[in-house]
Amino acid sequence: MNYNKKSIEDIEVAGKRVLCRCDFNVPTKEGRITSDKRIVAALPTIEYLVNKGAKVILCSHMGKPKGEWKPELSLKVVADRLSELLGKEVIMAADVAGEDAKAKAAALKDGDVMLLENTRYIKGETKNDPELSKDLASMADIFVNDAFGTAHRAHSSTAGVADYLPAVSGYLVQKEVSIMGKALANPERPFVAILGGAKVSDKLNVINNLLEKVDTLIIGGGMAYTFLAAQGYTVGKSLVDNEKLDYCKEMMAKAQAKGVKMLLPVDTAIASAFPSPIDAEIAVDYVDCTAIPEDQMGLDIGPKACAEFAAAAKAAKTVVWNGPMGVFENPVLNKGTIAVAQALADSDAVTIVGGGDSAAACEQLGFAGSITHISTGGGASLEFLEGLELPGIACLEDK
Ligand code: AMP
Repeated sequence: MNYNKKSIEDIEVAGKRVLCRCDFNVPTKEGRITSDKRIVAALPTIEYLVNKGAKVILCSHMGKPKGEWKPELSLKVVADRLSELLGKEVIMAADVAGEDAKAKAAALKDGDVMLLENTRYIKGETKNDPELSKDLASMADIFVNDAFGTAHRAHSSTAGVADYLPAVSGYLVQKEVSIMGKALANPERPFVAILGGAKVSDKLNVINNLLEKVDTLIIGGGMAYTFLAAQGYTVGKSLVDNEKLDYCKEMMAKAQAKGVKMLLPVDTAIASAFPSPIDAEIAVDYVDCTAIPEDQMGLDIGPKACAEFAAAAKAAKTVVWNGPMGVFENPVLNKGTIAVAQALADSDAVTIVGGGDSAAACEQLGFAGSITHISTGGGASLEFLEGLELPGIACLEDK
């Protein structure tokens, strides 16, 4: 995949109608936005377009209305908040690409901003229906994708519309693609990847692809125990994906053949049962992974593994991290995840955190400012690490 894509700065937008796909999928409670982070993150692109005198038509999905007109998933709340943040009116369309949206788009003046209704109100959106793509495109002269979180989806508003309009990236997508693209295509070495999370089966292709690129692959979290079991260790009641034991052996052999160092935790926090509720107080012991008792389960990496993983991260020039090292939702079992977040924050390397739990952990711990890049897309960043072509990026014009 070519990561060198045109951005809004590479195309003349003055006086043009610009359809900009944003990620306004913000959390709400009782009709109120509980975090406007995603709206704030979209401001640089929107403000650039406004200042250049474009006629700005924003669109996004929110939640999963599945083609139904659910009023609680209306983007009107986003229009209101965006209007406060921009200090100017945001014209709200009553539909997605229907009569009202088309009339309002046609009446826009240079520098005006409007927002279409939730794209997933229309069934064709997630089916990448060419009719919807054409309708969306008919309102604009240029398409800008600034929603990385949905870039792995081939939907009408994320990719399909680019069949009918010149398409470029906004600042958010540009940053994701340039930093992660460089890390994968041409990383400064040593390049270390740290993977965690619950299951090996969720990250099969990520592991396989990263083994082609990294110098060191670190595996923690629930998935480490399947690797340990594949090495012949007894892992007690730990999470093990028995169907993936051969796969783990294959990956360890691949690492050896490629000269990639693979690090598994040398020690682990153990308890007799999974905490219930997940944040319940729990008594744990720390043992070496060679000595996990039959009636215990591993729920976090231990202090020796924390130190070893942190040292590898600190010695690296590029670090990519995706997935927690343990059951980080629990205050006793979050030590490994905190240690890795801290190591990335302390490292001089280019540090990249894939979305989801690891991104949330860095933010909650207050480390976000010390990380080079925290991806805004969980699923999208994983597919990026898998080496897959993301439809919402592939559709953009090459530089
Ligand atoms: P993922 O969605 O694959 O990133 O996995 C995140 C989940 O993995 C979190 O909810 C963690 O609680 C869980 N997890 C991490 N380590 C373990 C472990 N050792 N045993 C069971 N679950 C774990």
